[in-house]
Formats: sequence, structure tokens, C-alpha cells
Amino acid sequence: MSDKVIPILDQRSGQALPKLPAQMLPPTGLLADALGRPLRDLRISVTDRCNFRCSYCMPKQVFDKHYEFLPHSDLLSFEEITRLARVFVAHGVQKLRLTGGEPLLRRHIEALIEMLSEIRTPEGLPLDLTLTTNGSLLARKAASLKAAGLQRVTVSLDGLDDAVFQRMNDVGFPVAEVLAGIEAAQAAGLGPIKVNMVVKCGVNDQEILPMARHFRGSGVTLRFIEYMDVGATNGWRMDEVLPSSEVLARLREEFDLLPLSASVAGETAERWSYDSENAGGQGEIGLISSVTQAFCGDCNRARLSTEGKLYTCLFAHRGHDLRALLRSGASEAELSGAIGLLWGARADRYSQLRASGVSSLGDGERRVEMHYIGG
Ligand code: SAM
Ligand code: SF4
Ligand code: SF4
Repeated sequence: MSDKVIPILDQRSGQALPKLPAQMLPPTGLLADALGRPLRDLRISVTDRCNFRCSYCMPKQVFDKHYEFLPHSDLLSFEEITRLARVFVAHGVQKLRLTGGEPLLRRHIEALIEMLSEIRTPEGLPLDLTLTTNGSLLARKAASLKAAGLQRVTVSLDGLDDAVFQRMNDVGFPVAEVLAGIEAAQAAGLGPIKVNMVVKCGVNDQEILPMARHFRGSGVTLRFIEYMDVGATNGWRMDEVLPSSEVLARLREEFDLLPLSASVAGETAERWSYDSENAGGQGEIGLISSVTQAFCGDCNRARLSTEGKLYTCLFAHRGHDLRALLRSGASEAELSGAIGLLWGARADRYSQLRASGVSSLGDGERRVEMHYIGG
């Protein structure tokens, strides 16, 4: 990539102040957006910082020593995150995923997990509380995360070959330490664990089969993710995307895969069992085809950025400033009313439009960066 400097602060500050409804109604947990999709999944970015510089997410050329990360006072506090999470849960959210940046870099993250783990759905059920991490600090933190109330982790790992993985993370981080993190998470009971591998054609696609062999029968579900055009800095090109159909073809050369049905509505991964003879016995594999097979139709995910902006799509160019509302002293009813209005107006389906050759961005609009709103 060239040395071009891309000013991305503009698009971080692109925001809209949420409106309040004329009449405040209590949340019912049955919210539907403009396309009839419920709100079930909230991803919370707890930091915009990361100790990796994955080329597809935070390329070094842009996220260098001059890049201005958010000051601590701009981040939502744990109390603010928990307060918002409660309102989202009242509107139907059943799953919370902590992400970033690298969420384990946020200090005292265990305290936030403890607070979130106390939230119950309107039916009195605990939430599905999970976290996505690059695994670098997991060996050290797995036991304390579990003790704080975290249920599961997803770990990102883009290959087993050190040279390939280090080229992807671009900070020379070794594979062995991520594998040690995964083992520690398994030992701590943070399962079932998922491992995400972003496949970049010509960079790490030779790692597909070694990764599948490694995780087969391990209790860990490996998921291959198509390299996406998130953000505006990774220099994305379609010819670097290896379609999931091609990943599947390569896997089928070695494994006798059997299709599995979706375990929950709105699931992003197409699931396959390793062995048709022994369905489930050796575990499963997932394919996430965000580029070649859009799954906007049942997308039930909202994203809360590090500084408290609500994004109703991963590819949005604009967030809604819930922090401003919180810090202006809004009541529970006002927060709830504003979130209800925002979700009710949601008509995002970026990937579907991309697949049909239509851009949902206007002139001069740029997509928000992944490390800032979380994956
Ligand atoms: N730092 C943590 C990690 O890497 O797991 C959490 C945040 S990261 C933004 C969340 C997920 O997004 C990771 O699994 C990462 O591989 C994925 N991701 C980031 N950029 C991507 C891209 N351009 N295409 C596909 N997946 C991407
Ligand atoms: Fe960091 Fe995760 Fe982005 Fe890699 S994918 S740069 S680990 S936030
Ligand atoms: Fe959901 Fe937006 Fe992704 Fe479609 S493009 S699946 S609406 S996040």
C-alpha cells in the first residue's frame, strides 16, 4: 500500500443527535425495524486501540504513531455502557458481544463484565455474554474473565504458520501465544470457543486446510470470514476476496462435510459438520460470506461505538450520538424512546445493495472504521 495519509477523524465525528418520540412508550422487547427485523444482538466496542495492526483492519500506514486515538474521557464509562445495555435488553437484545479494537486492552474489563452479567431479559433470563479478542492477552486473562461472568470467547487467528500470521498482524505476534490463549480459555470454561480466520487471497489462503486439520475434533469451531470492504483505509480489492464457495471446495477435497441448519435466527455463519459419517463428532466449521452472499435479510445486530454512537449497520457512515443523550441527563424513558425510534427507522442492507451493484453511500460519505465500532 502507498504511504497515503487518510484523515478518518471526519467520519468518526459524522453523527446525528437522536430524536425523542412525541409520546414515550415503555419498551416491549418486540421492536422491529423498517424491514421487519428485530433487535437481538448488541456489539459494544470498549476501546478503539489495539496491539495488532492487521492489514485488513488497522493498516500500519494509517494507524501509526501520529494517529489520534480517542482520549479516555470520550469513551463510555462502564456505568454508561451498562445503562444503555439495559435499555437495549428491554427492547429485545439477548446477546452482548464486547469487542473493539482489542477489548482486553480496556483496563478493568472484568468489572464491566460483572456489571453486564447481572442484566436479565424481560423474561428473567441471563444474556448471552461474549467477547471477541485477538487472543494476545487471553492466556493471562481467561480465568478472571470467566470469574467475572463472561460465558464465551471468539478468538481471531488468521493462520498457523508464523510467517503468514505475523504478516497479517504486522506486529510480529507469534501463533503459539494465541494458541495458548485458546487453550487457557477452554480450560477456564469459556466455550464453546469460536476461532475467526479472515481469508485474504494470496496472503493466507494456504492456511485454510492446516487450520481445519488443527481444529477438527478440538471442540473449537473454526469460521472462515470473507475479507470485507469495511472502513476506508484497508485498500480493499475484490480480487483479494476468496469466496466462501472456494473455501468450501478446498475443504471438501479433504473432508466429507455435511451441511447443518442454522442454530439461531440471524446467524451469520453457514455451518458444516466435519464428517457426514459421524455428524457432530469432530465438531463443525462455519463460513461467513459477507461479500458473496449478503445476509442483511435477517440482520438483527446493532453496534455501539467506543464513544457511544449507535450504528445500525457495519458499513454505516454515520452514528447516532447516544452519549450526548446520556450526558445531557436523559431519563430511562427518553433513552428507550430514542433507541426505539432509531431502530424503527432502520432500513440498512449495505451488503445486499453491494451485491446488486448499488452503493448506499452518498458523495463524500465514508464508511466507519471496524476497530472503532467493533466487528
Ligand atoms: N481485536 C479483536 C479481534 O481481532 O478479534 C476484536 C475486534 S476485530 C475488529 C473483530 C473481528 O473483525 C475479527 O475477527 C477480525 O478478524 C474481523 N475483521 C476486521 N477487519 C475485517 C475485514 N476487513 N474483513 C473481515 N473481517 C474483519
Ligand atoms: Fe486489532 Fe482485531 Fe483489528 Fe486485528 S482485527 S487490528 S486484532 S482490532
Ligand atoms: Fe447487517 Fe449491514 Fe451487514 Fe447487512 S451489511 S448484514 S445490514 S451489518
